[in-house]
Amino acid sequence: MSKNEKSSMISGFYKLPVKKRVEFVKNFADLSNEDEKVFSSCLNIETADRMIENVLGTFELPLGVAVNFVINGKDYIIPMATEESSVVAAASNAAKIARIKGGFKTECSKPLMIGQLQLLDVKDVAGAAQKIIGHKKQLLDLANAQDKVLVDFGGGAKDLEVRILDSPLGKMIVTHLIVDVRDAMGANAVNTMCEALAPMIEELTGGRIRLKILSNLADKRIVKACAVFDKEKMGGESVVDAFLESYTLAAVDPYRAATHNKGIMNGIDAVIIATGNDSRAIESGAHAYAARTGQYTSLTHYYKDKNGDLVGEIEIPMAVGIVGGAGNIHPKAILCKKILGIKTAKELSEIVASLGLAQNFAAVFALSTVGIQKGHMSLHAKNIAVMAGAKGEEIEKVAEQLIKEGEIKLDRAKEILKK
Ligand code: NAD
Repeated sequence: MSKNEKSSMISGFYKLPVKKRVEFVKNFADLSNEDEKVFSSCLNIETADRMIENVLGTFELPLGVAVNFVINGKDYIIPMATEESSVVAAASNAAKIARIKGGFKTECSKPLMIGQLQLLDVKDVAGAAQKIIGHKKQLLDLANAQDKVLVDFGGGAKDLEVRILDSPLGKMIVTHLIVDVRDAMGANAVNTMCEALAPMIEELTGGRIRLKILSNLADKRIVKACAVFDKEKMGGESVVDAFLESYTLAAVDPYRAATHNKGIMNGIDAVIIATGNDSRAIESGAHAYAARTGQYTSLTHYYKDKNGDLVGEIEIPMAVGIVGGAGNIHPKAILCKKILGIKTAKELSEIVASLGLAQNFAAVFALSTVGIQKGHMSLHAKNIAVMAGAKGEEIEKVAEQLIKEGEIKLDRAKEILKK
């Protein structure tokens, strides 16, 4: 029995009408009638106008939920905002299989982000590096003076590291400011601190600071998730073996690894967007981390355990916040965080990593068995039917015929429609 009294496990959720699905989620997450209205509302134009520049309107995406998730013994329904068909269904299906062996287990590092200060025109590079390290306490104090709120929450600047890099401009010193950002994504917090340190570092070293900005390679803010996928449910040990053969290509070949990791990001981006987090920051961090050894590789790792079941693991940087950014402004992001019932950025990281692993498992599983197109077919056929001009009940009928014939083509959809 999971820690959450309400189960996220539900069969045939996709077959329910939208109203019934909303009812299920409302009951699961104890949503109010006011919360419920947010599902069908649009982002207010005044809010949008405050969020970015040159606003003309808003841009809608479908918002669905992945069901069946158990993470660290707790049931979750995970909101996902995405335009890609099959992604939500695949995640729910993977979570259902992972559930048999107890669901996802996670570990998370401290929420440490890195800010970079690039120092140029230094004559004695080694001496300057020593001076910076020698003034660590003063520099950290100055950084912490910029964000009393963060410090009061137990976060703030914690450490300094100095790197000396060769470059076409000669040697440069890059100072890394390590900041515990608690429940924030941390970019604004870290950037403010870096800007404040620049004059002091210039004064100490006689050099010239150029860049002072956060690094999106958040390799000190790592989350790991793992799950065991039941071999019987997968279709037997031969399917586990087929899965491992497929996975091996991603482990050794960047051409496959890019697509493999894209599958992970199908899930991750969807919950990142739904919670108002920065998907570009997560994407760039993930791909940079995937290339950390010099060869771009898979962000997940799979092997068979002694029972012959498949074990999946993911390790990924996770710069997410539950305070700050758009997550506190966008009403749907606020609602999605309520559905997740999260209290900390750490918990959100663990959910995001588990979803990424589930999404990746589902894709490789499909590729190793029926192929990816089968899952895509139903919604794809409906889209083709609409493109062919089908309306109302015609859409379902044309799509069904296309699937029956096994060819989802626009010209055929037009012919069926004519008949
Ligand atoms: P923010 O500045 O809006 O909020 C963070 C602040 O909230 C903290 O500095 C702290 O003062 C306060 N706070 C209150 N309660 C807190 C708690 N429990 N834990 C931590 N802090 C708490 O947001 P941010 O997280 O610093 O920055 C995120 C935004 O920056 C995102 O919108 C992102 O898109 C944007 N951004 C990203 C990049 C990048 O990724 N390279 C660069 C610039 C800006």
